Amino acid sequence: MKSTSLSLTESFVKIFLPIFLFSMVLLNSSCSTDNEDTIEVIDNSQISDDTENNDGTDNDVDENPDTSGAIVFEENFVLEDNRRLVNFVLSNNEYNKFLEGEGDVKMVSQKVYEHFNDDFDFIFILSVEEQQPDGLYYGRSYKVKNDVQGLGMSLYEGTPEYGSLGTLKSVIHMPRTEYIVNGPFLHEIAHYWSNHSFIPTTIGGHWGYSSAGGQLGGFDELIDLGNNTYQGKLNGKNGFGPNANGGNSVPYSNIELYAMGLISSGELESIQVAENPERGSAFGQFTADAITTLTNADLITQHGERVPSVQNSQKSFKALAVIISTTKIGEDQSDTISRHLENFARQGTPDGYWGNTYNFWMATGERASLDIQVLDEDLK
Ligand SMILES: [Zn+2]
Repeated sequence: MKSTSLSLTESFVKIFLPIFLFSMVLLNSSCSTDNEDTIEVIDNSQISDDTENNDGTDNDVDENPDTSGAIVFEENFVLEDNRRLVNFVLSNNEYNKFLEGEGDVKMVSQKVYEHFNDDFDFIFILSVEEQQPDGLYYGRSYKVKNDVQGLGMSLYEGTPEYGSLGTLKSVIHMPRTEYIVNGPFLHEIAHYWSNHSFIPTTIGGHWGYSSAGGQLGGFDELIDLGNNTYQGKLNGKNGFGPNANGGNSVPYSNIELYAMGLISSGELESIQVAENPERGSAFGQFTADAITTLTNADLITQHGERVPSVQNSQKSFKALAVIISTTKIGEDQSDTISRHLENFARQGTPDGYWGNTYNFWMATGERASLDIQVLDEDLK
């Protein structure tokens, strides 16, 4: 079964990934404020061109939790024995809401904090869909709070609604566990920091038609074709996405590393931003009234220095993965997802089946780490 899972993943990378990358370029995304405490960024899949539980024995986790083995907190809420994911079995109704973009993420996070301490910067909610659901986003980020100054957004605190005592940064939902490997996993994590008005954009929440050239879109090279027409390029090739650049296939860019607190303001490079951009017919071409260059001095004058600075910013992050399903996931599936998560969080190169995609540590240029392993001390 393990080899079957692996070959399916390889097939996904070889066959579906190019389609996925193309569709990511055509995404229409929107950034909406659901309420004053949460900023949501939705990565839609709208393509305009068309293109059992265990035996029910409750462990007494309060006294002396095991260091290995599954923990059945509730019949439908189980920490898997790999200690890298929780399986939360939902009713069909609750599960299907997530496939309609109406999932109750606060219900999930509040359930997490019934059994876990407030140790997680991120909660990743993953549905177990075999195919991308029609009309659904590829990923959605719920920004729970903002504790960073200098990025264009005021500070706010929305953690209580989610059941967190202040640690939780964002909750991310993706409909397929394969997106851990192929993206938009890196992208959704980046939404905690960007783009919340740090640079002007016509693509809400993303870098748009700018030289940001990273996970949240943008080019890294611009050719002036005359007549207010431009060709954006990325990694030497024509074309870029105004809101994404091919899942986990690109690392975090300069401006993203700055926003994440991983490089200094002195290292922040100037950025070109197109005024009134309109997408052209060729891949990565667009028209604009003008191209404005914002230097790091311009950005820091406008927004202030990043607080905390790179000297004392957080570099180690911790997350909990919650796999939602309508029946208990099997051991093989649990192990496969666990392997994806371990690779994503590994401080090293992922296994060969990842191809050329980046994990978190690599995408940050080895500047930051993500821990997804559940420890005894995380349990209530
Ligand atoms: Zn996005």
